[in-house]
Amino acid sequence: MIELHFRPDDLQTAFRYKSDKEIHRTKMVFGMMRFPVLVRVLSSVAIFILKFGLPFRSTIRNTVFKVFCSGENIREALKLVRKLETFQVLGVLDYVAEGAKMDKAFDYNARMAMNNINKLKNLQNGHSISLKLSGLEDVEFIKRIGLLPGNFPGKEEERYARFINRVDEICSLAASCNILVYIDAEEYSTLEVFDDVAELMMSRYNRDKVIVYNTLQMYLKDRTQYLERLIKRAERENFRLGIKLVRGAYMEKERSQAVSAGLEVPVFDTKEETDQAFDKAVEHCLNRPELIDTCIATHNEKSILLALNMIEAKKLDRKHVRFSQLYGMSDHLTFNLAFAGYSASKYLPYGTVEKAIPYLIRRAEENTSIGGQVGRELSLLNMELKRRNQYVHPAA
Ligand SMILES: Cc1cc2nc3c(=O)[nH]c(=O)nc-3n(C[C@H](O)[C@H](O)[C@H](O)COP(=O)(O)OP(=O)(O)OC[C@H]3O[C@@H](n4cnc5c(N)ncnc54)[C@H](O)[C@@H]3O)c2cc1C
Repeated sequence: MIELHFRPDDLQTAFRYKSDKEIHRTKMVFGMMRFPVLVRVLSSVAIFILKFGLPFRSTIRNTVFKVFCSGENIREALKLVRKLETFQVLGVLDYVAEGAKMDKAFDYNARMAMNNINKLKNLQNGHSISLKLSGLEDVEFIKRIGLLPGNFPGKEEERYARFINRVDEICSLAASCNILVYIDAEEYSTLEVFDDVAELMMSRYNRDKVIVYNTLQMYLKDRTQYLERLIKRAERENFRLGIKLVRGAYMEKERSQAVSAGLEVPVFDTKEETDQAFDKAVEHCLNRPELIDTCIATHNEKSILLALNMIEAKKLDRKHVRFSQLYGMSDHLTFNLAFAGYSASKYLPYGTVEKAIPYLIRRAEENTSIGGQVGRELSLLNMELKRRNQYVHPAA
């Protein structure tokens, strides 16, 4: 029997970076998420408000934005990175840029990603950035070329080359500064093209060590086979793999889009199948530490325990496998993993309130739809308040 030093129920460690005020704010936001109808109404209102500039911006900023985002600009985000450093928790800077439509915006987002790298290189080792490729090219263009067989027509070819160039500049700078880049996985319609780009970057920059990670959404039925194909390619072409494992954040959208287009739903039918695929992928990756650097990005305690048991059983370096959670969620996992000597990080989205809205809506919808997640967060927050001798209303 392996003894783990990870104690997710150590709430003092879990919440020590949060003031009483911050805990109360988080509790209020998660409390609202218990009501799916309220979340749906507020999501529509948020989009409307931001479109027409009505005076509720500060309400959003001081509630849900403060819980899930690290700030409106790089200065605020870095302040949080430094604070997390004092608890051995690493930061993954995530400039919220998705769904951009114009060359000017793509170039701006690329510069922001490079700025993140330049700022992080001055801090302690191990911080990283995440990259949404939909911030560097229009998703409609990506979908179009994804359907084209072989070579693209002239103009499309040039445009694709500009897109690759933006990603390459970011990864090349990251490699020279020794900062990791997690390429996020997005909607299924972008999957093939984004996989190609991530593989190209891994083949260029993961020669001696891993700089670039591709993200595998294990709720997709084809990902186990994809992982096997990827391993074969890396062995054949002699590069290392960075694999970030997630379950996947776009389930409802994927289902409804596939059904309305009369296509097969790419996502598993049940949570159990997704869980099984995720845990199998964790095993698969941890079995190949000489080839794969793994990031386990989840709030699922069972999956984390499985990974920890494997790390200890195989005597892997505790810092070799990276664990990551989203800012605002599952502090009991991140801070206790770091306290037990594992590599633990927080995804830290930052950007203006307006830009963060799609991200915030995803977090709200996901928390509302996942059975138990909101309840678990609330009960931990209540226990911590009790521990700090605060009054907790019996109905809370
Ligand atoms: C650090 C970090 C980075 C992330 N980056 C990305 C990213 O790049 N791309 C991305 O898409 N997501 C990303 N996510 C979000 C992630 O995909 C999950 O949505 C989220 O973490 C919830 O899954 P879980 O493993 O934490 O928890 P769990 O509560 O164990 O799992 C919930 C997930 O299970 C799956 N699921 C639920 N019900 C069913 C069902 N009936 N059938 C099939 N599957 C089901 C869904 O994926 C759901 O989100 C990231 C998460 C983290 C922590």
